[in-house]
Amino acid sequence: MSVKKVDVLIIGAGPAGASTALFLAKQNISSILVDKDSFPRDKVCGDALSGKVVEVLKKYNPAIVDDLALFNKALPSYGVSFYAPNGNCLRVPFKPDFKSLKIAPGFVCKRIDFDNYLIEEVKKHKEITFIENSFVKKFEWSDTKKQCFINEDIYEANIVVACDGPNSLFQKKVLNDTFSLDLADNCYGLRAYYKNVKGLDEDNFIELHFVDVALPGYFWIFPMSDNTANVGLGLKADVIKEKKIHLPELLNKILALPQFKDRFSEATLDGNVKLHALPMGNKQRKLSGDNFLLCGDAGALIDPFTGEGIGNAMLSGMIAAEVIKEAREKKDFSVQMLKNYDEKIYRRLGPELQISTRLQSLVKYQSLFNFVVNKANKNKTLRDTISSMFVDVDLRSKFKNPLFYLKLIFN
Ligand SMILES: Cc1cc2nc3c(=O)[nH]c(=O)nc-3n(C[C@H](O)[C@H](O)[C@H](O)COP(=O)(O)OP(=O)(O)OC[C@H]3O[C@@H](n4cnc5c(N)ncnc54)[C@H](O)[C@@H]3O)c2cc1C
Repeated sequence: MSVKKVDVLIIGAGPAGASTALFLAKQNISSILVDKDSFPRDKVCGDALSGKVVEVLKKYNPAIVDDLALFNKALPSYGVSFYAPNGNCLRVPFKPDFKSLKIAPGFVCKRIDFDNYLIEEVKKHKEITFIENSFVKKFEWSDTKKQCFINEDIYEANIVVACDGPNSLFQKKVLNDTFSLDLADNCYGLRAYYKNVKGLDEDNFIELHFVDVALPGYFWIFPMSDNTANVGLGLKADVIKEKKIHLPELLNKILALPQFKDRFSEATLDGNVKLHALPMGNKQRKLSGDNFLLCGDAGALIDPFTGEGIGNAMLSGMIAAEVIKEAREKKDFSVQMLKNYDEKIYRRLGPELQISTRLQSLVKYQSLFNFVVNKANKNKTLRDTISSMFVDVDLRSKFKNPLFYLKLIFN
């Protein structure tokens, strides 16, 4: 076995790892990007690319967003329809004047295509050495020795960026942490692709259905290109265990409900139904240490209310690249230096993750949910507030304030 000394080693080439490598390359910093799979590869996901994904891509290179808008596998999406437990719908555009937008605020794109889209960009950079089909199988990590074992080689890096997803081996072996295994901090999601679902939204709004059988989680239908829809549901892992829920059975039960039966009467399943974990950003965690950073799902940065993780993964990759640049300039890869990363991440994402954690706990109050949807359907100002909350975290914080609901009662 040969020992290779490298500058930056990124483990995992999903949105977190690819973004880290791309933002480093933008600053002329070389990196090694390793993934156990070869691309294009599937990833179980709802495939919804939020405004945050577009925002990060714009910071990397505005031209890439124009390209995404022309990419025929990415369907532009303009909003979200919330269905309260009583079946009433609240249709909320991501931006109030969405019909006049040049580029859609969000997209839905199969991860096999979107992640490969990022990898195609990775391959354009001579600064990035991309190694596919290579599992990082072992770590030797002590004060004096920090090694990653990949194929027949041992890598020693100034900095390791762990972007190895929800079941991060790095997190388990190096941090000796089990936060990915703690049921209260995780959701499980199921994803299925269906063709010929009827009644999809004319402006490709994604649909979130808070049906009582799936509370405190939700069932989704996201329209995609090729007359396909991403259909799935997500629920907290502790609820699944406590109520002994079998997610594929629950999906069948939901599809047989009167509001979906006709919509799925001619639909055909495309491929298999697949399950995966979602590590929630419901508390602040240690995201760095001597010579390492954790990004994306490896750092449990998924929004606990919406389940959105791609945007946060890419944003964390962008911030990791900023911190790595500073650390290299100072030739300091110590825990004291790298904790800047934790501070920057939680300064940017902390408030919204906190609000979403509170919102997730409110979802179980069915009557409150029904009430807000009914009110919003009658009140344009409230509808506009909810629409703006997608881009404005301060507005989102209104929803965790009891006064907000009191004012609604008397308005
Ligand atoms: C059912 C479901 C629905 C979801 N819906 C949405 C949605 O609609 N919108 C949204 O924004 N988010 C959604 N998410 C969350 C989103 O999928 C994740 O937050 C996102 O994939 C995180 O990106 P990542 O780069 O951190 O990890 P990943 O995308 O998981 O990438 C990790 C990479 O690391 C590689 N890897 C792992 N271990 C090793 C190893 N030891 N050696 C080498 N390589 C390794 C893997 O092959 C993989 O390519 C959903 C998740 C689930 C499960």
